[in-house]
Amino acid sequence: MIEVREIGRVKSKFKERKDPFEMKKHKSSLIIDKEYEEGLYRIEERDYIQVLFNFHLSQDYKLKGPTYNGEVRGVFASRSPHRPSSIGLTTVKLLERRDNELIVKGLDAIDGTPILDIKPFSLSMDDKEKEEIGNEYNKKNPRVKILKLIRAQDLKSLLIQAASLHGHFCPGLALGVMAGSYSIKKMGWRSEGLENILSIVETNNCFSDGIQYTTGCTFGNNSLIYRDYGKTAFTLTQRDGEGMRMIVKKNFYETLQRNFPEYAAIYEKVITKRENSPQLLTKFRELAQETSFAIIKYDIEQLFDIQQIETSIPEYARMHDSLVCDKCGESFMETRMAKENHQTYCIPCGNGKYHELNGEGIITKS
Ligand SMILES: [Zn+2]
Ligand SMILES: [Zn+2]
Repeated sequence: MIEVREIGRVKSKFKERKDPFEMKKHKSSLIIDKEYEEGLYRIEERDYIQVLFNFHLSQDYKLKGPTYNGEVRGVFASRSPHRPSSIGLTTVKLLERRDNELIVKGLDAIDGTPILDIKPFSLSMDDKEKEEIGNEYNKKNPRVKILKLIRAQDLKSLLIQAASLHGHFCPGLALGVMAGSYSIKKMGWRSEGLENILSIVETNNCFSDGIQYTTGCTFGNNSLIYRDYGKTAFTLTQRDGEGMRMIVKKNFYETLQRNFPEYAAIYEKVITKRENSPQLLTKFRELAQETSFAIIKYDIEQLFDIQQIETSIPEYARMHDSLVCDKCGESFMETRMAKENHQTYCIPCGNGKYHELNGEGIITKS
């Protein structure tokens, strides 16, 4: 028989298990029993420690099942609390020692969890090695960082990242980030970047960049479908056409004017009337940024109408052969041929009809 001793208990504001990524953002304490206090001698010299604890509330376990994000894995390939030995292991940052109390950050154990052991975490790997492991992981799961932020609903970090794609902060982008990350978390789906899930956007304004960034459905991976309805709305769907549609509430602009009057006024000047003195633009950017970060703090139901829907979705994008234009010599997709007098021409050389997606929507041109 193996004997394991309880050396203390966790003190945490979390009385029950929540999203571990959310839990890890908060401080908690390890209260070590007085009889073991001497064992903490010089622990404060360490920045990180590993805490072994007992999942005391978990009673049953399955050897294989869905993990927190819905993926099916074996118990030993997951961090599930339901395990044959009910032991948890987490590396935490040691912030402070107060006698027999260790104040830590990064622990995902609830209040009252029995602590079994503590060990200093030694970084035997150098930074280069760690970076390489990180890169290998990111190569296998390129969107892992975004998914982590979505799981933790860290909208602030997501908005900052999305703006690196979009180029500026604005309420439209903020709404897109909110809608995209909400729906991905709610549906528990993840984009493989191979059309396994699709985003159908109904506008091509700033909102759609927030959607592309958070859902991983983009113009280039054929998972972003644009329906030119001119509505600030989007649907996240799987290949069976079942999905979730979110549309910005029709009173959003009144909400914006009422709660952010300074931004609404400067928007009118800069965007509608195209007044653009350098001072005005600086102020505009400042207010747009401030407003965006304020908007992401709203409850999703305050800003969006949300419905479960079924919609028609296109087939997987087909591969087409290429042809070479008889006039300009450039190669082009065979479905885009503008034939003229038995010659094979590309669209511009043969004056063919085409569609252009621009600020006005989808425009047919020739
Ligand atoms: Zn924008
Ligand atoms: Zn040509």
